[in-house]
Amino acid sequence: MSQFDEVKTVWMNGELVPWTKASIHVSSHALHYGSGVFEGIRCYETDRGPAVFRVEEHIDRLFASAQVYRIHIPYTKSEVGAAICQTIEANNFTSCYVRPIVFFGSGTLGLDPRKCPVEVSVLAWPWPAFLGDEAMSAGVRITISPWRKFHSRMMPTTAKACGQYLNSILAVRDAAGRGFDEALLLDVDGGVAEGSGENLFLVRDGVLYTNGEEQSILLGITRDAVMTIARDLGLPVRTRALALEDLMSADEAFFTGTAAEVTPIREVDGVALGSPGWFTRSIQKTFMEATAGRLPRYRRWLHYVDDCTFAGAYSAVPCI
Ligand code: PMP
Repeated sequence: MSQFDEVKTVWMNGELVPWTKASIHVSSHALHYGSGVFEGIRCYETDRGPAVFRVEEHIDRLFASAQVYRIHIPYTKSEVGAAICQTIEANNFTSCYVRPIVFFGSGTLGLDPRKCPVEVSVLAWPWPAFLGDEAMSAGVRITISPWRKFHSRMMPTTAKACGQYLNSILAVRDAAGRGFDEALLLDVDGGVAEGSGENLFLVRDGVLYTNGEEQSILLGITRDAVMTIARDLGLPVRTRALALEDLMSADEAFFTGTAAEVTPIREVDGVALGSPGWFTRSIQKTFMEATAGRLPRYRRWLHYVDDCTFAGAYSAVPCI
């Protein structure tokens, strides 16, 4: 049984095709070198039908990632938005995870991909709690990875590029092999960077802390939502470089990410942080209510799937 059993249709280069036809050639540049960029987006079930969470921000980040790697996306942002909605509708999903990907196809296997066509695809599939339901309620057991997060001067950490994820794959495989739920990567200077696919938050003395771009993290869209929610709940939020001792002396800690949503951390390398605390639970609850469309204040974050139109201003951004 595969995660993709329920997927019937995939959007590929401008059209919806059956799952069985959604394949690429083995000589594709991206397969060999990871030369592509992607997004991870969630679509949630609401009273008004399925809604995509912060889709404009995800599309902006997709285009920004492509721009760094000089990949020209042959569609406008609005077209990518419409493709996302169409893919969800074509599969009749009420809630799902959505994966737009832009990559260099078959043309040359020289490192310079200029002769390769740019391929664009949108895949959607049901993906409930990524680290499991128990992780959401009781929290995860994590380990500090022996693999460091690459520095932003080595690769653009604020971009979400395919090949960059080999670093995360090394970390999760090591963590799983040693019986942990997830890995936390330090940056090259020994400060705390992020999880394999999540940002980190700490609570200490009633203040919420998270780190910033200078610690080689991806600037998560969930991270941004959580900072907004925390401020709205009246919790002070500080962004500063985090050290390992900040984590080990925290009152509460949690991960955020599109897949992981708000996942409490209950243990670091066998040292208990305790059950998820009040701040973590309140933020998690508000986040889940916001994504379910139950909080008018955060409705602006939801794009209902039956509306395939995107604002006129949301048009093509040339990228070279
Ligand atoms: N860091 C990394 C390395 C990630 O892959 C992700 C998941 N996209 C995140 C952080 C969280 O980002 P977001 O909240 O935008 O999903």
